[in-house]
Amino acid sequence: MTHSIAKVVVDLALDREFDYRIPAGLSGQVHVGSRVAVPFGARNAQGYVVGLAETSSYGKLKEIGEVVGKKPLLSDKILELTRWMGRYYCCPVELCVKCALPEVVRKAKISWKERQFVRAGKIDAKQLAKLRPKSRQVIEILQKSDGMFVAKLAQLADTDASTIKRLAGKGFVMLSDQVDERDPFGGEVFLPTEALKLHTEQLQALELCKAQISNPEKPVLIRGVTGSGKTEVYLQAIDFTLRQGKDAIVLVPEISLTPQTVERFRARFPGQQITVLHSHLSAGERHDQWHKIRDGQSHIVIGARSAVFAPVQALGLIVIDEEHETSYKQEEAPRYNARDVAVMRGKFEGAAVVMGSATPSLESFYNAKRGRYVLATLPVRVDNQKMPLMRIVDMRQEAIRQKGVHVLSAKLRDAIQARLDKKEQVILFLNRRGYATHCFCPKCGYVAKCPNCSVALTYHRRDGQLRCHFCDHIAGVPNRCPECKDPAIKYSGMGTEKVESAIQKAFPKARVQRMDSDIMTKKNLYREIFSAFRVGKIDILVGTQMIAKGLHFPNVTLVGIIFADMALHLPDFRAGERTFQLLVQVAGRAGRGDVEGEVIVQAFTPFHPAVQYARQHDFVGFYDHEIEYREQLRYPPVTRLVCVTVRGRSEDKAKFVAETLARQLKNEIASERILIAGPTPAPLARIQNQYRFQIMVRTEQIMKLTEALSKVVSGKKWPEDVNVSVDVDPISLL
Ligand code: ADP
Ligand code: ZN
Repeated sequence: MTHSIAKVVVDLALDREFDYRIPAGLSGQVHVGSRVAVPFGARNAQGYVVGLAETSSYGKLKEIGEVVGKKPLLSDKILELTRWMGRYYCCPVELCVKCALPEVVRKAKISWKERQFVRAGKIDAKQLAKLRPKSRQVIEILQKSDGMFVAKLAQLADTDASTIKRLAGKGFVMLSDQVDERDPFGGEVFLPTEALKLHTEQLQALELCKAQISNPEKPVLIRGVTGSGKTEVYLQAIDFTLRQGKDAIVLVPEISLTPQTVERFRARFPGQQITVLHSHLSAGERHDQWHKIRDGQSHIVIGARSAVFAPVQALGLIVIDEEHETSYKQEEAPRYNARDVAVMRGKFEGAAVVMGSATPSLESFYNAKRGRYVLATLPVRVDNQKMPLMRIVDMRQEAIRQKGVHVLSAKLRDAIQARLDKKEQVILFLNRRGYATHCFCPKCGYVAKCPNCSVALTYHRRDGQLRCHFCDHIAGVPNRCPECKDPAIKYSGMGTEKVESAIQKAFPKARVQRMDSDIMTKKNLYREIFSAFRVGKIDILVGTQMIAKGLHFPNVTLVGIIFADMALHLPDFRAGERTFQLLVQVAGRAGRGDVEGEVIVQAFTPFHPAVQYARQHDFVGFYDHEIEYREQLRYPPVTRLVCVTVRGRSEDKAKFVAETLARQLKNEIASERILIAGPTPAPLARIQNQYRFQIMVRTEQIMKLTEALSKVVSGKKWPEDVNVSVDVDPISLL
């Protein structure tokens, strides 16, 4: 059947579909997902066909100009997914479509890179003998291969392309153009591995996964402590998927997308083309990887958040490792969570979804408890090693003893010394960079603040600067108080830079390295530092959450957490959950080799449940405790939360809009089932010169809420300079 009307989402216009007539000349060429050029107002624009129809309720329609590209870029299923995202996240469909297609693919400005390829031609021994030595070498190298790129051959024979071209002129070699795939991990070698014999719990988990792959009904949540063999289960589940002729997508947090991780998958599936998608790919690499997936040449895709949209042809399985990770959430519109989008994609495409974590999000565990997810548990480490021993140091007592707050407690200092003596390695963790968190005047109470944000500036000693971690504002260090002119400026609070210098002072002979985003400006530094640490060239690694994730260092026997409860008192209902997760994840770094590991946790509120349950490695205990509090206060996962933020340079205007909006929402959608609170100034009341007000909406029926919310919020004209954003299932409320 041929349709005469196409519904098009135009790049230039947000949140609307426009009807266009399909001219006779294009009949049969316009499909859902096709990229088309259309007249739009006085201009020409490009857009996507999101639907086809026979009739339109509009009178005079314009015609589609042309179809851009050959195949539709988006499958029906992905389009369906983007439409769901638009509804669910209260966001223009057009933005969701953009999100599902990398820019290089969308704009189609880059294509495959073709280069000259050379193969051996016809040449007999006599002719060969007559050639100059260089030319003879070229032919001999080529005859031993199935051909190669000209540049490679020139390099091997230590000659230039003109020599090879001369030989081609005589027919001794043959040139052709061939696609040279830009593969970021190409050329790396690895040893193939075989599937391991699973232990009982792993087998049970795998069986649950297989059942879902064969007949998808519900997502599977694997809760398994670090080192319990989750990845091995994923690998075997993927293998099962491939055997069914289906494809798999593996999502990992960006920070865990290391060569090590990728290698583990490559080594298990040596015959497969595994595609890796991450944010550091060049435009060319991204283009090639995307098309390789869409053309069905790659059946396993590994990637960070946006890989959830990878255009595999026969999706059978999506794995989401570390499903609790906040980096799965995109912090700009569409504010989607890749884990939740994965669950929906699984539903639309009839694919299994398997997620895993040592510390599942309360949302996912709640879903498992209520039977919406299938739960598998891997309770112990594969090698039956004990979980590392966690000791808590009460820093209030320590501060009294040491007459002030210091970086190291006596216990941690002794423990570090003991490990250094044994030539073992130490990781010290503090989730804040810089040297001091406050620069203040003890006399008049002045604190150096960011002029654009309502936060104090952080002191970076190495650069001799005060910096804002929200807007990158930089200020000089005052040598006297700008207010009372007193010269006794002081610093308080600590960051990784201070830990590094305190450690260097306490252990002058130790090799100390800091690792945080301040020193990660060079592209490969991250890899370099990790390999130096791995081979033992570093004794103590000091870092932020960059070092907290899924890495395996057998010689690390001590992990020190400098200030465990730093984030505990943030005004966010998930502060306890985040602290618990962080402590357990960081602790998982210790003792993964033959020696038992130890974790020392310095805390000012050592009896807080988040700290105590983490000490016991007791996820279920923490969950039971925490869920009670969420139930009392009607917070997620018991309800669903939507945060509407109004931002503006003028505090009055932003506040006025927020109040008007809140009133409207209360009039139009509030009910017993929809609770609306606010507006209140956000905990960080001003960021980058923008005042921020929040309205919190909670409900048990999220779809109804977002529908109603869309009606109130979308298509509204806000005063100039005022911006309204809707965040469904927000993960940070600061
Ligand atoms: P997780 O993903 O839960 O951290 P991994 O799958 O990485 O755990 O397993 C931890 C270590 O144990 C890895 O080195 C892995 O090769 C090994 N391992 C996993 N399962 C088994 C098994 N059934 N038998 C032997 N070793 C295993
Ligand atoms: Zn700032």
